[in-house]
Parts: sequence; C-alpha cells; structure tokens
Amino acid sequence: MRRAVYPGSFDPMTNGHVNIIERALEQCDHLIVAVARNISKTAMFSFDERLEMIREHFVDEPRLSVASFEGLLVDFAANNNCQAVIRGLRAIADFEYEYQMANMNRKLNPNIETIFLMADPNNFYVSSRLVKEVAILGGDLHGVVPDAVRDRLVQKVQSR
Ligand code: ADP
Repeated sequence: MRRAVYPGSFDPMTNGHVNIIERALEQCDHLIVAVARNISKTAMFSFDERLEMIREHFVDEPRLSVASFEGLLVDFAANNNCQAVIRGLRAIADFEYEYQMANMNRKLNPNIETIFLMADPNNFYVSSRLVKEVAILGGDLHGVVPDAVRDRLVQKVQSR
C-alpha cells in the first residue's frame, strides 16, 4: 500500500492544490492532505475551516483523508505510514525553498521520499496569498478556486 502526505497551509485550497491532489492520487493508494498548524503566516481561515473546505471538495474520494499536524513533517509521515511527501512546484520561485526542505527532510528521515509534481500550466500563477488579495479587492475567482471556496472567500471578506 503506497501512502503519501501532501502538506501545506491551504489557506484556502486553490485549483492549483486540487490539481496536485488529483494527480498525486494517481501515484499512490492513499493520500493524506495535511494542514500544518505551525506555519507562521497570517491566516484568513481557521484550521477547521481549511480542513472542511478540503473534505467537502473530496467527499466522494475514499482514498483521500484530511488531517492537521504540528511538529516535524517527517514524523507525521512516519507515524501515518506514509513513504512519500508530495509537493507542488510552481515556476522558479518555489524551487530554492522546496529544495532545502526536501534535503532537510531526507536528512531527518531518509526513508521518506519527497515527490515533486510540476504545477499545471493553468494554475502555475495561482497562490493562496494572491487569491486572498484578489478576494479582498473584490475580483472574480471563478476557475481559480473551487466554487465552494469562492463562496467562503466572499463571505469572509464581507464579514470583515
Ligand atoms: P506552503 O504554505 O507550504 O507554501 P501551500 O499551502 O501554499 O503551502 O501549498 C502547499 C503545496 O502546494 C506546496 O508544495 C506548494 O508549492 C504547492 N502549491 C501551491 N499552489 C500551487 C499551484 N498553483 N500549483 C501547484 N502547486 C501548488
């Protein structure tokens, strides 16, 4: 059984993330999407909201589970019997950080392999940060995030 973990902040999940998840599911038997609790970023959505948006979107996918984690990713992976970590790579901006992380994680636990999936050309410009900025400025995010996420972004901005 090949199990993998796809970690990130998912604040919120974009179509870029959805694409990576769908492709990762083709490469493994079970995928855990893991929302990191210890990332020092200003979040728009609570952890529960982020988990819920991912769960709702993939409600019909029994091979996917959603969790949150704190602490070292390699420990979370090992404790959940995952042999691989999935990361998405957009253009060049992601490369240096991802390369450092992958090598540090290999040093921490050589049994866990990081697998990179290149961003789909339709989504290579999409980031959660940009999506939040566009939402705050009232831009249309159709086709950039799932419709349910778009609705939540609109509600969130209106309630601020
Ligand atoms: P982080 O907070 O670690 O940057 P994110 O939640 O933004 O994580 O993303 C999680 C993973 O998904 C990272 O590997 C990131 O590179 C990848 N990712 C984010 N957006 C996209 C996208 N549009 N296309 C492909 N991969 C993406």
